[in-house]
Amino acid sequence: MKLVYTSDNRFLVGNARNLLEAQGFEVIMRNEHAVSAVGELPAFEAWPQLWVLEDKDYGPACAVLASALSDKDAPPWQCSACGEANDAAFDFCWQCRKDRPPEPVSPTD
Ligand SMILES: [Zn+2]
Repeated sequence: MKLVYTSDNRFLVGNARNLLEAQGFEVIMRNEHAVSAVGELPAFEAWPQLWVLEDKDYGPACAVLASALSDKDAPPWQCSACGEANDAAFDFCWQCRKDRPPEPVSPTD
């Protein structure tokens, strides 16, 4: 089982679940009903999470979400910590949760 999507906005996570279920993925949500006190941001661990049951579905599910949730047409970026390739839509590494590194400065131009 692998975590494919999480957000502090549970509507986005719900959308992601609908997208994946429509594509035939077996998914579960965790923390779906977690709530935080008014005025407090939920801790990362309390965010709603979307998991795929089958590890082999992780890559395809990420691809579905990336294409559906992002209108960016940017190339994937590689995590500097673990080497995982992450879609441009993601702001942190799905493998180790390290923040996305800043865009490298082009050596040309
Ligand atoms: Zn990583």
